[in-house]
Amino acid sequence: MKRGLLIILSGPSGVGKGTVRKIFFEKEELNLAFSISMTTRKPRNGEIDGKDYYFVSQERFKEAIENDEMLEYAEFVGNYYGTLMAEVDRLRDLGKNVLLEIEVQGARQVIDKVPDSLSIFLVPPSMEELKRRIEGRQTESQDVIQERLDKARKEMELMNHYRYVICNENPQLAADSVALIIKRNIETTL
Ligand code: 5GP
Repeated sequence: MKRGLLIILSGPSGVGKGTVRKIFFEKEELNLAFSISMTTRKPRNGEIDGKDYYFVSQERFKEAIENDEMLEYAEFVGNYYGTLMAEVDRLRDLGKNVLLEIEVQGARQVIDKVPDSLSIFLVPPSMEELKRRIEGRQTESQDVIQERLDKARKEMELMNHYRYVICNENPQLAADSVALIIKRNIETTL
């Protein structure tokens, strides 16, 4: 069986990665599987352990790093987030195209480690719009919002490391573009 692609969807916090992902993820012909990340962040209302994330302690996360279990990991606004290598390998070996929806430091590690990965960077139409989106989420305090915005400005500078850059002005259109890119890449690697 043909091994699945490794797809990285990244971009600054608040750009709408999750919203875009939910739209294109449903397309069956893309044969996608979502890699569930591990994090030390506390669950938000409605988030489920083992579905949205594996919510773990700092100790467990450090142990996973020491045991070389992580394909990538990063510290983001005071918490650790990372991708388990075993999870990705298992799904790719099943022929699934595995999607990583991750922040930019981790994405950089995967781009370096897996040169044939399909990396896609989402950008907001403007920084004003990004601010509006982060504030609209109303899950974070003012300090954290400011921290995420400052970080986003720096994160935007990394976009030239990616194979594709897509503007998320409209989530449906952005999702259609991502889907087309994935489809074309599946066809060319057949
Ligand atoms: P949130 O706290 O909003 O769920 O996630 C914060 C940031 O961490 C988002 O940009 C999200 O895409 C990113 N993230 C989620 N999982 C991972 C992961 O496994 N690795 C890395 N590097 N970033 C992740």
